[in-house]
Order: sequence, then structure tokens, then C-alpha cells
Amino acid sequence: MKSLYRFVDYSIGLDPHAERDMEEMACTTCGDLSGCLPFGETQDWAIQHAAKTGHTGFRQVTTNYHRVVRNDRDLAPQLSVPAVFTPGQVVPPERA
Ligand SMILES: [Zn+2]
Repeated sequence: MKSLYRFVDYSIGLDPHAERDMEEMACTTCGDLSGCLPFGETQDWAIQHAAKTGHTGFRQVTTNYHRVVRNDRDLAPQLSVPAVFTPGQVVPPERA
């Protein structure tokens, strides 16, 4: 039996159906974590943690989800997001 191989190009981009810009803050002194919170709420957590503990150093991690598509099956522009929308912002219908 013969096999036919061919090269396929892939693209990667932000998953339009996943949450975006989920943040987590970590205290660099004790390692305490804020947990995954919507955009902007990790700063409030850090201020409250500093007030309780006196710890003043923090590391912020932002999480976004990406999706890989085959260029011959999916359109790469579907993954491209010209502006990063944050939770709470109005998302245009074509991206909802
Ligand atoms: Zn701490």
C-alpha cells in the first residue's frame, strides 16, 4: 500500500472562545497566590496582602489561551485578534 505525504502549514492565535487576560499574583516573599482573577483584581489582592503581611514584592502572570489551526482547514484570520478584550468589555458580535 502506498502512502501519500504532504506538507501542511499551521497558524497559531488567541482562541476567540476562551477567557483572556486571566491574571494571578504571587507574593515573592511567602509565595502566597491570589488565584486566577479577572483583569485588574490581582492588584487589589496584592495591596490587601501587603497590608496584612508587610510583604511588598509580587510577580504577576497573565494567562491567555491559544489555538493552532491547519491553514488548509481553518482560516488563520479567525484566530487573529487585533485588540485584546478584557473581561467586562463589550466584545463585538463577530468575536463573541
Ligand atoms: Zn507574602
